[in-house]
Amino acid sequence: MSEGHHHAREKSPSELRTMALEALLVERGLISTDAVDAVVEQFQNEIGPRRGARMVARAWVDPAYRERLLADGTAAAAEMGYGGAEGERLVCVANTPDTHNAIVCTLCSCYPWPVLGVPPVWYKSPPYRARMVREPRVVLREFGLELPEATAIRIWDSSAEVRYIVLPMRPDGTEHLDEEGLADLVTRDCMVGVAVPQVTEGVAA
Ligand code: FE
Repeated sequence: MSEGHHHAREKSPSELRTMALEALLVERGLISTDAVDAVVEQFQNEIGPRRGARMVARAWVDPAYRERLLADGTAAAAEMGYGGAEGERLVCVANTPDTHNAIVCTLCSCYPWPVLGVPPVWYKSPPYRARMVREPRVVLREFGLELPEATAIRIWDSSAEVRYIVLPMRPDGTEHLDEEGLADLVTRDCMVGVAVPQVTEGVAA
């Protein structure tokens, strides 16, 4: 990216701090900027959401864990060793044949970091934040998720105090899968509620 792309937007104290730390580490030869990019990418797409996916898979195979997860998301995450900043109070909402859940932060970009990693760019975008509340069915369709008209859609507005995670329904044709195999089906988007788990031909029994 050329210098011309750097706009004069003011950086937050934490952004400045992060940039300063990265610059220092790179200057001292301790890390490369490519390595930093790779870690951010991993945290956004793999490490973070994988934790939430393991919780979902556990809930699918263990009804007692499912109950605990729905009763107290924070405790159920801690049970698996997950917790920390940006996830002090975690609430899990379960999809049913009648109701589909999705999460948003209308004010900014609150997101359950300990179980989903860092939020994707679109989650932080003003159009998603505004339209997900106003016309969720249309937005979900744009994500490729077409829900039956009879299915109610519930939108949960995250805040600094409460972060939500969606427990999707276990898809048919997954009876042969173990917990790790089930977790493979649970993408980040499924836990935000803009997608539902898909069983591809290679996975189906
Ligand atoms: Fe927020």
